[in-house]
Amino acid sequence: MHIVHTLPDLRAALAAHARPAFVPTMGNLHDGHLALVRQAKPLGDAMVASIFVNRLQFLPHEDFDSYPRTWEADCAKLQAAGCDVLFAPRETDLYPEPQTFKVQPDPLLADILEGQFRPGFFTGVCTVVMKLFCAVFAGKAQGTAVFGQKDYQQLMVLRRMAQQFALPIELVAGPTQRADDGLALSSRNGYLSETERQEAVQLSLALRALAREAVAAAHALPGQVAALEQRAREALAARGWQPDYLTVRRRNDLQPPQAGDALVVLGAARLGTTRLIDNFEV
Ligand code: AMP
Repeated sequence: MHIVHTLPDLRAALAAHARPAFVPTMGNLHDGHLALVRQAKPLGDAMVASIFVNRLQFLPHEDFDSYPRTWEADCAKLQAAGCDVLFAPRETDLYPEPQTFKVQPDPLLADILEGQFRPGFFTGVCTVVMKLFCAVFAGKAQGTAVFGQKDYQQLMVLRRMAQQFALPIELVAGPTQRADDGLALSSRNGYLSETERQEAVQLSLALRALAREAVAAAHALPGQVAALEQRAREALAARGWQPDYLTVRRRNDLQPPQAGDALVVLGAARLGTTRLIDNFEV
């Protein structure tokens, strides 16, 4: 595996490759990330992963400084998973000057759900992903990037970005990888105490229950949905969680559903100081 930190070194490492396949990450890699790497591997002529903790997508009170950085272990895992090129820019490589030009996503999609509770999050995500895409794919005949469905809204926002900017890059979704009890793997799971880790699966259980109830009430949507959502939030809150949202949305634009729409349930909630998210297509 070739490890590069600067844009010129990345370009040199990819010079002989016309069709890179790319998996961007913030490191602290787990089996969810590695599944994306293995999925991406046959989709291009070079498998490129990046590790970059992107300050732009963190709010001032969030965990940018304490976000786990596990460089040696990450390198070993990527190498074992078949990564060809690891791009690990320092902050000054990617942002040599303050990033005053930004990619502003459609507020209809990006200011709801995660965007409502983390204002500016998707602007930070779109800006860094556009920049990473330029770094990896400039001058390439074809490109593929793989993103996890675990971050459902993020994948959707990035797909719209790629479509609206007519990027010659195919975005592929990777299924959410889970622990044996059903908890979605996440770098932030490491923040959980032992007791919190036992409890953490309740977010996915609450979403599955909400999904079942939404299906049962499908004929009565949308009138019923608000009541089901409120019950789901209250049930988690009663267990000591602080839910941001547990909600049923239609898949194609994440707006409240009408009868007959294909559905997805999405949730975000804090357990202690750890904020977890999850989702299921219904
Ligand atoms: P992150 O390092 O959290 O920015 O995530 C990097 C990529 O890994 C994103 O595309 C995430 O959606 C994806 N990812 C994170 N957790 C999982 C998981 N449990 N299963 C599949 N993909 C994941």
